[in-house]
Amino acid sequence: MSREMVPEYWRNKHIYLRPKGTVCRDCGAKYFPPRKVCLKCGSRNMEEYELSEKGRILSWSVVRYPTEEFAKYAPYILGLIELDDGTRLVAQVSDVSADEMHVGMRVRLAIRKAFEESESGIIRYTYKFVPDISEK
Ligand SMILES: [Zn+2]
Repeated sequence: MSREMVPEYWRNKHIYLRPKGTVCRDCGAKYFPPRKVCLKCGSRNMEEYELSEKGRILSWSVVRYPTEEFAKYAPYILGLIELDDGTRLVAQVSDVSADEMHVGMRVRLAIRKAFEESESGIIRYTYKFVPDISEK
C-alpha cells in the first residue's frame, strides 16, 4: 500500500498514541516536551522514552479566553499533570467539568480530535487527558 493510501491518522498513530519524552542518562531528569539538553545538569546525554499513560492532576485552570486559534473550544481545562513515571506536563483535560476537577484526580492519556482543517477536511489528532474511571 502506498503512503498516499494510508489515512493520515494511521500514519501518525504511533506518534500520537504514545508521546515520547526525553530522560537524562546522567541525572535521570525527565522532560516533556522532549529536550536535547538537561536543565538540571547541562548534560546532552539524553534518550527518548515512552511516557506513562496514567498520572494525576497537580493543578488546573479553566481557559476562557484562549488565542484566536482555540477560541471555538473555550472554555476548556488545562491541567498540570504528574505522570506515574514522574514526568510533569501541561495538557488539556477533557470529558470532565471544572466542578468535578480535584487535586490528585487520576487521569489517563486519550487520543482526541484536535482540529479540522477547513480546506482539506483533514482531521488531526492529538493527546489529551481524561478522568481514569478505572481508578476511583
Ligand atoms: Zn541531567
